[in-house]
Amino acid sequence: MDYTRGGWTLNMQHETLETLSHKQLTQQLRDLGVRPGGILLVHCSFSRVRPIERGPVGLIEALQATLGPAGTLVMPSMTDDDDHPFDPQRTPCVHMGVVANTYWQMPNVLRSDSPHAFSAQGPEAARITAPHPVDVPHGLDSPVGRVYERDGQVLLLGVGHDANTTIHLAESLAGVRYRRKKHILVLKAGRLTRLAYAEIDHCCQNFNLVDEWLEAKGLQRRGRVGHAEARLARSRDIVNVVTERLQRNETIFLHPLGVDEECDEARASLVSPSLPGGCVLD
Ligand SMILES: [Zn+2]
Repeated sequence: MDYTRGGWTLNMQHETLETLSHKQLTQQLRDLGVRPGGILLVHCSFSRVRPIERGPVGLIEALQATLGPAGTLVMPSMTDDDDHPFDPQRTPCVHMGVVANTYWQMPNVLRSDSPHAFSAQGPEAARITAPHPVDVPHGLDSPVGRVYERDGQVLLLGVGHDANTTIHLAESLAGVRYRRKKHILVLKAGRLTRLAYAEIDHCCQNFNLVDEWLEAKGLQRRGRVGHAEARLARSRDIVNVVTERLQRNETIFLHPLGVDEECDEARASLVSPSLPGGCVLD
């Protein structure tokens, strides 16, 4: 057996990591700058955070304890499946990770009734998860838009800005013209209906540029939460910094042609828009 192979070494490192307590986690979150009483939108890869006491639930409890009773915790909760209607009581949210998929199922957590759902608990939860349009998933009238309007913070735990949905809000506010074709199935008057729409989207890898933009202005804090690298910034700072860049260069996030299909489709839509704004039922 070759003990120098990456998998074995990584597993051994994982075995020896200290299991962090609730108290250690809340201290890390306070040190990073999470605001008690504020609104916090969290994107998380739990495999980077662990091991911690009580697993994903332990992390959620530490986030809630740091925010306190006046704070509101928000997480993505969208469906992974565009081919079945969304049911907020049942539809899983696996791609956003185990913490997001645990959170919406916990007591007193509200989940918006949308394939682009977010879940929230706290005094602002009902407003943040109120109905939002399906065809503009991350505009001003959406959970991320409401976190922005209420001056919430965005916490990235073990993920980079390529997982940061608030950047799509900035694209929407900046008025970028690129789109990709999407569809979902919805129940309309009791009948399954396919809803086609055009969404501001691409591969999102270049969202990682936002680290540099925020840090050049001292608008992002980095630290550790659990064992993960953590980034914290105000939603408004992310939106302001990104909007300013997009107004100078609309395609700054899109790869050059031929790198990946998603950015190619977004670029092509600038030349010949395939769908008008809004949506069509077919
Ligand atoms: Zn790309």
